Amino acid sequence: MGIKSAKPRHHVVVIGSGFGGLTAARALKKSDVDVTLIAKTTHHLFQPLLYQVATGILSEGEIAPYTRVILRKQKNVEVLLGDVTDIDLTNNTVTSKLIDMNTVTPFDSLVVAAGAQQSYFGNDHFATFAPGMKTIDDALELRGRILGAFEAAEVTTSQAERDRRLTFVVVGAGPTGVELAGQIAELADRTLDGAFRNIDPSDCRVILLDAAAAVLPPMGEKLGLKAQRRLESMGVEIQLNAMVTDVDYMGLTVKDKDGNERRIESACKVWSAGVQASPLGKLLAEQSDGTTTDRAGRVVVEPDLTLKGHPNVFVVGDLMSVQGVPGMAQGAIQGAKYATKLIKAGLEGKDDPAARKPFKYFDKGSMATVSRFNAVAQVGKFEMAGFIAWLSWLALHLFYLVGYKNRFTTIVAWFITFLGRNRGQMAITGQMVYARTAMEKLNQKQAAELAAQGQTADPEKADYDKAQAEKAALNKAEPEKAESKAAG
Ligand SMILES: Cc1cc2nc3c(=O)[nH]c(=O)nc-3n(C[C@H](O)[C@H](O)[C@H](O)COP(=O)(O)OP(=O)(O)OC[C@H]3O[C@@H](n4cnc5c(N)ncnc54)[C@H](O)[C@@H]3O)c2cc1C
Repeated sequence: MGIKSAKPRHHVVVIGSGFGGLTAARALKKSDVDVTLIAKTTHHLFQPLLYQVATGILSEGEIAPYTRVILRKQKNVEVLLGDVTDIDLTNNTVTSKLIDMNTVTPFDSLVVAAGAQQSYFGNDHFATFAPGMKTIDDALELRGRILGAFEAAEVTTSQAERDRRLTFVVVGAGPTGVELAGQIAELADRTLDGAFRNIDPSDCRVILLDAAAAVLPPMGEKLGLKAQRRLESMGVEIQLNAMVTDVDYMGLTVKDKDGNERRIESACKVWSAGVQASPLGKLLAEQSDGTTTDRAGRVVVEPDLTLKGHPNVFVVGDLMSVQGVPGMAQGAIQGAKYATKLIKAGLEGKDDPAARKPFKYFDKGSMATVSRFNAVAQVGKFEMAGFIAWLSWLALHLFYLVGYKNRFTTIVAWFITFLGRNRGQMAITGQMVYARTAMEKLNQKQAAELAAQGQTADPEKADYDKAQAEKAALNKAEPEKAESKAAG
């Protein structure tokens, strides 16, 4: 039997189970601390491969292993599912909410890795018609929308509607937009080839559109042009200097550099144009005298990734704003490793917050796949494009995927897709396409109604409470009838 220490151990709370959060929790494996990892999703998400879930290559399980199971053997970690609604830097507590249960978790050290969401630059209504690609829900919804568009085109008898259904618009020509546009084109040309009777899927238009003047601007002109040419050779239309001014059910309105506005009729639109940090960034900055957030809501952290006046509160990953550190997986991983190193040093009495060495980012480069066997990659001044870059991309993504089983099944899926022309994850359901919007609407409506009545915002619980109340009322008014109703 183990003997419990009389003094409670140092308690580290980690918010988020993405690259930053998971790295932080794992880095504390051998430390004399208790860790509570709180995240609003049950999985660790490998976002760089979301586009492959959206286009039917990988299943969601392959890129989103269950966090609790990943950390099962690390006995000093407790995983809590919950949406963090408050962080109190005076009392050092984190409040999280699951359904209508609130949990308050105290901390000695805090690592906040809550990431970022899609930004519609103040036009949040675009989201209904042009979902982003940040979550598993997003990717599955997009898969439903992409394949659903081909299905509808097969059925309609109107040529205009067929054209609209077969026009796919990806907004944002960064790595995500490039990868998604390339994959929609390959899906149409290879996987769906010969599968329809009334349409030829390769007749579809895939448009990659951006307000900027280049494809993949952060990767430089040369690589951007290479990616652009490759996409164009696959039939993808690249429209640059094109600003989206409106998105609706039927399509998009686009303003070109010359100021002219035009319409693109399109059923399937995808938004990959901007990011907005988690609102937790603002919540933290407001409590720390002198800490600010940048335009995207990221916390402008101190050189040791903490908040001013709070050397025990670290912000890492997409939520932190540090000059020269891009919103990429490596930024989150390295930030989390740095923060936990300081926490560990503190446990040994070797950390003097006033004398901490600043966080230094080591740039391991960036890459994007354009099509099968073709990618662009950049490591410092070194640039690669084509097959070798694609092989590097393949190796790197396998290395960072979590879990041996996932690596194995991913290799199999890639063989099937890249060497053959099939894709193993082409199932779509009505729920994928409509559930998120329906749930958002239902939740908003019910939350407002129930809040007005001072009741729970959980729809299932609300239905249960309503049924119980009706039963109780019937019992009181007509006990015999209620009894016979209960009997069947
Ligand atoms: C489509 C796509 C493709 C990408 N491709 C690449 C690539 O090729 N290479 C690369 O290096 N980077 C890529 N990135 C960026 C990379 O994925 C991010 O930089 C990285 O995930 C950031 O890690 P993070 O831990 O800060 O945040 P995330 O990984 O986003 O994790 C955030 C975590 O916080 C949780 N969370 C958020 N809010 C709350 C809350 N209120 N309460 C509780 N939990 C909360 C979430 O559930 C999640 O677990 C891509 C991103 C996307 C979206």
